[in-house]
Amino acid sequence: MRILCDLHMHSALSPCALEEMSPNNMVNMALLQELTAIAVTDHNSCRNAAAVMEAAMGTGLVVVPGMEVQTREEVHMVTLFQNLEDALAMQEEVYAALPDMKAPAKIRNKQLILDCEDEIIGYEDKLLGFSCSMTLEQVVERTAVHHGLAIPAHIDRKSCSILSNLGFIPENLYFPVLELSMYADRVRYEGKYPNQRLISASDAHELGFVGMAPSEIRVETVSAHGILKALSQGRV
Ligand SMILES: [Zn+2]
Ligand SMILES: [Zn+2]
Repeated sequence: MRILCDLHMHSALSPCALEEMSPNNMVNMALLQELTAIAVTDHNSCRNAAAVMEAAMGTGLVVVPGMEVQTREEVHMVTLFQNLEDALAMQEEVYAALPDMKAPAKIRNKQLILDCEDEIIGYEDKLLGFSCSMTLEQVVERTAVHHGLAIPAHIDRKSCSILSNLGFIPENLYFPVLELSMYADRVRYEGKYPNQRLISASDAHELGFVGMAPSEIRVETVSAHGILKALSQGRV
């Protein structure tokens, strides 16, 4: 069956996202936009994924846990996982590869850890807005080890994208799908990469953008597992 997904958005854990990106606000906005699935993809962390998944319980909305990992080459990669356990295992590796220094208070105070009732339960000490020391190749490989899928994010963007920083899509790496931003001129990219399918996502950092550039995916089962399987088989 075909489902509508927005697989790239940031909660209030990302230092650049608005505080209104709380678990319940994200879930309710996704439902208003008639999405079947969203992914929580904060910068270098999945610490709010559990709260969003919990907030979505009983609503029918599928929440895919993930991260937007910033590689050593400053390339943004959306990494999606089948379950929280796998996402947390990847997060542990990413955290170990982030700069070994505490976020200054003014950044830390913008990295909110929330529970499923939107209460602030902590602040992230790590500097989430920085590159980790993992290479693009390592991020792809480690994501796969944790049964996830790595997707080059917003390839049309002039910064922090695989095309802006590398200039090409490496053929030795496994990318069944590439992500376009909501601002992309899709026609420019159609057919340009015959080995990959294109998806779009909102990359929402504020509530009003959730669901602005959804993708239709053909899944066998409506679940994180089903979505990852469909993406890896190019069923978009
Ligand atoms: Zn990004
Ligand atoms: Zn993003």
